Amino acid sequence: MTAEGHLIFSVASLVLAHQLEITPEIAQGDWLHMLPGVLLASLLPDIDHPQSTLGRLFRFISIPIARLCGHRGFTHSLLALTAGIFLFQTEMPADWPIPTDFFHAMIIGYISHLIADMLTPAGIPLLWPLKMRFCIPILRGKERKKAERFIALLIVVIAIFIPQHIDFSFMQFFDKLSIDKVHIDKLQNLYN
Ligand SMILES: [Zn+2]
Repeated sequence: MTAEGHLIFSVASLVLAHQLEITPEIAQGDWLHMLPGVLLASLLPDIDHPQSTLGRLFRFISIPIARLCGHRGFTHSLLALTAGIFLFQTEMPADWPIPTDFFHAMIIGYISHLIADMLTPAGIPLLWPLKMRFCIPILRGKERKKAERFIALLIVVIAIFIPQHIDFSFMQFFDKLSIDKVHIDKLQNLYN
C-alpha cells in the first residue's frame, strides 16, 4: 500500500477506535497528540524499505533492517508490535514527555498499517519468524488506490454511525482479570 493509503487508513482507524472508546486515553485523548502519533506509526513498519518515506529519512536504520529481514518481514509482525509496546513501557523513563494518548494512537497506527498491508495480495508474515503470510487480498489491480480511499471512508462512516455508550473497552477485560485475581488471593488466604 502507498504511504498516502496508510496515512488515510490510520486516521480512519483512529476515528473508529475513538468512537469505540478502545482505551480511556483514546476516548478522551487530545487530537493534537493522537493525530501525529497515528500518522507517524502508520509509516513506521515500512522503515524496512530504504525507498519508503521513513526509510529514505533514516537510511542508517532502513538499510540494515532491509538486509537482515527484507521488506515486509519482522516489522510487519505481531512480534515487532509486542516488542515495541514492551520496550516503550519498560525502557522509557517515567518522566519522559510522551503523552499516553500519543502512545496509544501510535499502537492504533501500527496495527492499521499491518491490517492495510494484509489487504494486498503480498500479505504480511504476521507470525514472523514463521514464513506463513496472512492476506485478505481485496486491494488489487488498477483500481487499488480508489479502493483504499473507499475503505478508509467506509471505516469513518461506520465509526460515525456506531451506537454510543457500548463498552468495547479492552480495560473491561483486564478489570475482570484483576477481580478474578482478588478472588484467587482470598481463596489462598483461606487455605493458609
Ligand atoms: Zn508495509
